[in-house]
Formats: sequence, structure tokens, C-alpha cells
Amino acid sequence: MAEFTMELNEEQREVRDWLHGFAADVIRPAAAEWDEREETPWPVIQEAAKLGIYSLDFYAQQYFDPTGLGIPMAMEELFWGDAGIALSIVGTGLAAVGVLANGTEEQIGTWIPQMYGDANDVKVAAFCSSEPDAGSDVASMRTRAVYDEAKDEWILNGTKTWATNGGIANVHVVVAVVDPELGSKGHASFIVPPKTPGLSQGQKFKKHGIRASHTAEVVLEDVRVPGSCLLGGKEKLDERLARARERAKTGGERVKNAAMATFEASRPAVGAMAVGTARAAYEVALDYAMTRSQFGRPIIDNQGVAFQLADMRTSVDAARLLVWRASWMAINGRPFTGAEGSQSKLFASETAKKVTGQAIQILGGNGYTREYPVERMHRDAAIYTIFEGTSEIQRLVIARTLSGMPIR
Ligand SMILES: Cc1cc2nc3c(=O)[nH]c(=O)nc-3n(C[C@H](O)[C@H](O)[C@H](O)COP(=O)(O)OP(=O)(O)OC[C@H]3O[C@@H](n4cnc5c(N)ncnc54)[C@H](O)[C@@H]3O)c2cc1C
Repeated sequence: MAEFTMELNEEQREVRDWLHGFAADVIRPAAAEWDEREETPWPVIQEAAKLGIYSLDFYAQQYFDPTGLGIPMAMEELFWGDAGIALSIVGTGLAAVGVLANGTEEQIGTWIPQMYGDANDVKVAAFCSSEPDAGSDVASMRTRAVYDEAKDEWILNGTKTWATNGGIANVHVVVAVVDPELGSKGHASFIVPPKTPGLSQGQKFKKHGIRASHTAEVVLEDVRVPGSCLLGGKEKLDERLARARERAKTGGERVKNAAMATFEASRPAVGAMAVGTARAAYEVALDYAMTRSQFGRPIIDNQGVAFQLADMRTSVDAARLLVWRASWMAINGRPFTGAEGSQSKLFASETAKKVTGQAIQILGGNGYTREYPVERMHRDAAIYTIFEGTSEIQRLVIARTLSGMPIR
């Protein structure tokens, strides 16, 4: 087990500085343009691929960093550059993690390379779980997967929504109901290979923030995928369903919810994205407060401004510490007895919303315009309290963990 330390080691510092360089030199200068265009920034993704920043290898290396700090450090730097572009770079990872978590070795080897493509022909992937009537309440999902035994194929029907990279992805990972009697225990994940007939993009959303990241509906009409596209394979699914049916019949003891443990481990990464955005806005505000003069002195000479900056910096640092703690716990297999992963996501995302708002205030009229980046950062920050579980759902998870109540 790695000792917890507040300092990054030399190797981590090198990676951080390298990522920071990419965020400052490539991402940040492109941020305003892609925000206005509301399109996927393919040239930036390509540049990231050339440098090895857009690849499974890079994220795997960070993930297996024994201190647990590799992923939060990488997320903070990329999202410091710009949240929309950074999400376009890391969004494929969400689908890749879906395959890594549930797939066989063969599925991992076959599909993950196709999710990323290569530097000369970059591809993206999408993870499609949310539906119009199943957001926070995942158990009410309706997209159905039915097995056609004669052909060893699964047939998928339904509508997914809010899918990052939905419809433009080379590979889609789709969560669907295989046994409606079992609620969320009756779900399974499927790969939909490139160019599969029946999968189409529905509406592309025009969004408040992270506009460089593509978000769309994905419509599935009699989409047929080979049996080999069921993540984990049929045998494992049948065993899992049989256990769930047995428990439902006998009212057997609840097994620990594996999905919840996975969320606790993945939520700090979203917290780290929020820390990146919050830190970026704080830095712009600090710089502005020191250089903008009114009444014959820099505005930071007013306690009203200086104290805001003190609070902003304190919140950013506190958010990072919660993220680091949860990330360390995840890599060391510590039980999340206080839902520490959810705590980190809750606090960091609320911090990002607040700090970016304070930054606008400190920049005054300039803060309210697109001439300065803080209004974009404020729009972007609003996503952190919504996706990967809203703030209310984080509070619900934390409260139920503390009281010992079951979390669905
Ligand atoms: C830009 C963007 C990208 C996304 N990317 C993806 C993706 O790639 N893949 C994917 O599958 N999904 C994705 N999502 C979906 C996202 O995870 C959902 O939007 C989120 O889970 C909330 O669901 P909902 O929008 O249906 O809101 P709802 O669940 O309808 O919630 C509405 C409000 O009610 C509150 N609420 C709901 N239930 C409770 C409760 N029990 N107690 C208290 N309050 C409650 C919520 O907190 C929220 O404030 C994305 C969303 C956005 C906006």
C-alpha cells in the first residue's frame, strides 16, 4: 500500500507539467472557438493522440499509479485548460471503463483500440445509459435487449439520451434491460460495433456549457449485435440473473452493491475535473484583482475582494484534498464507509459552480462577457453538479451510507 503523501513524486510532477503545457498551449487557446462552434474539436483530439494523451495506455498508466493521484492530477490539468475540450478528450474513457469493468479479455482487446482509433484516424466512443425517463432513477430504464438464440444475436430497442459522443462514436456501449422483473439487477451492457444498422443519432443538444463536447440522443431500432457483444458473455450473465432471481424469491440477504462501489471509486475523477475548472477561474480572478485598479488602487486592496479570493482558494484546496483522499482510498481498496467518493464529487462540483460565479463578480463587467474566460467556465461548471449523479443524488448516497439504509 502506498503511503499517503501530500506531495507529488518526481515522475508525477513531470507528467503534471507536461499535461499542464498541453492544457496551456493547445487546449486553452482553442477553448473560446470550440465553445462557439459547439462542435467536437477533432484537431485538438488528434494533437492529444499524437502526444499519447488520447489513448488507453496513458489513462491506464495514471490509473495504476499506486498513490491513486495519477487520474485526479491528469483530470485537473486537462480541465484547467478547458472543460468542453477536455471532456471531448476524456469522454471515450467512460465507455472504455464500461468495457474494462465488465468485458472479457478478448472484448477489451477487440473493442478498446477501436474506441480510440489512432493518431492519423482518431475515433471516439460513447457510453449510453441515461434515458428520457431514466436519469437519476436508472432502474426505470426501458431500452430492451432480447436474445435471438437461433442466430446467437441480441436485438436492442430503445432511446438513450444525453450520451456524450452519442451518434458520432465509432463504438457505443449500451446498457439495456435483459430481465424487466429484476430492476437494475436485470441490466446488461452491450457493444454496438461501428456502422451497425439501426443505431442512429437523435437530436444533438445545444447546451449551456461544455459546448465543445457533443451530447446527443441515440436511437436503437432493431439493432442486432452478435452474442459476443454482450459484455462479460452469456454464461456470466445467466449466472448473475439466476442469483438475482433466487434472492428476489427468497428475499435473501442483500449482497453489497458492486455498482455503488464502482461509483465511489470513479466519482473522485469527476471531482478532479471540477477542481480544474474552479482553479482556472480562481487564477484568472486573482490575476485580475491584482492588476485592475479602481479608486486609485488595485481592487484586491479592498477586503471585500481579497476575502472572496481567500475563500475561493480555500475551497479549491479543500475540494482537491477530498478528491485525493477518495482516490487514495480507491486504489488501496479501502471501504468507502462515509461515501467518501460521493463526498468529493459533491463538494468539488458545488465549489466549481460557486468559485466560477465569484470570479465573474471579481471581473465585473468584463467577467460577464466572452472577452474573458470566466463566464464560459461558469457555464461549464454547472455540469459537474448534474452528470455522473446530481448533487442531490450524492447527498442521498452519503446520507444512506451514514445511516446504513440500502442504496439501490
Ligand atoms: C452534458 C451531459 C452529458 C452527459 N453524458 C452522459 C453520458 O455520456 N452517458 C449517460 O448515460 N448519461 C449522460 N448524462 C446524463 C446524466 O448523467 C443525467 O442527466 C443525470 O444523471 C441526471 O438525470 P436527469 O437529467 O434525468 O435528471 P433527473 O433524474 O430527472 O433529476 C432532476 C432533478 O431532480 C433531482 N432528483 C431526482 N431524484 C431525486 C431524489 N431521489 N432525491 C432528491 N432529488 C432528486 C435531481 O437531483 C435533479 O435536480 C449526461 C448529461 C449531460 C447534461
